[in-house]
Amino acid sequence: MKQLNFFIIIFFSLLGSIAFANNHLPKAEAVPGGVVALPLASKFKRPSSVIFQGRQIMVLNASKQDYAIVGIPLSTKPGNYQINYTDQAGQTLKQTFTVRAKAYPTQYLTIANKRKVNPNPADLQRIAQEQVIIDKLKNTWTQAMQPNLQFNWPLKGRISSAFGLQRFYNGEPRSPHAGLDIAAPAGTPIKAPAAGRVLGTGNFFYSGNAVYLDHGQGLITMYGHMSKIKVRPGQLVKTGTLLGLVGQTGRATGPHLHWGVMLNKALVDPALFISQYRHDSVLAAARE
Ligand SMILES: [Zn+2]
Repeated sequence: MKQLNFFIIIFFSLLGSIAFANNHLPKAEAVPGGVVALPLASKFKRPSSVIFQGRQIMVLNASKQDYAIVGIPLSTKPGNYQINYTDQAGQTLKQTFTVRAKAYPTQYLTIANKRKVNPNPADLQRIAQEQVIIDKLKNTWTQAMQPNLQFNWPLKGRISSAFGLQRFYNGEPRSPHAGLDIAAPAGTPIKAPAAGRVLGTGNFFYSGNAVYLDHGQGLITMYGHMSKIKVRPGQLVKTGTLLGLVGQTGRATGPHLHWGVMLNKALVDPALFISQYRHDSVLAAARE
């Protein structure tokens, strides 16, 4: 059975987006910052008993098959991993998958406001307080919401920074780019890529004016650097609802949207949720 499961995983990863696009599942990419959709044995214990690295995992049905939709943290080392879940008889089952290495390109940025690269003690205190709020937002689990994993672009614009870039600010190494940047003129409307609920809004040291959306089952999206926020916490949004306007608040070199997608608390590549996404073109844009 183990070997059969392994075969199924390989089969599905070969099919990639072709198989998943019709089923509204994200493009599977078993790499750090990627997403995998793992077929589950029938009769798993509902609503969701699937666990990966101690975290609850989204379960979706597509074409009469249940899948665990697993976000892979950027810090994950290549190798074999497993999810565990319980069936209705109380038996523990596991499903293994292999994460392969991915070399993300390097990006060098120059920031005029040096405090955004080397924050002063007061800034560090603010950042620590904000991190508590952000962690709380990321920890949200709403079982009742059925997430739609086929996103629209939140706006049209040039991809100015792809997901995962190894970043240097003013020559100093910083955390990898855990979102997707779309450059557009200040004031361009930013629209919800899928239905959800506004989890929180705020002004943050790094992400500026930001909106967090909950789409259900551990799928949270974030929109940063806005000049203006146009929604309020608790508000239900549909695909296309105006969230705010493009700006360059927080740490930004120019007006753009920083779009973050979190799945089981892992920041993953937003582009995997957009059909007909061409990764090569995004990487080419990042090298401009
Ligand atoms: Zn960004």
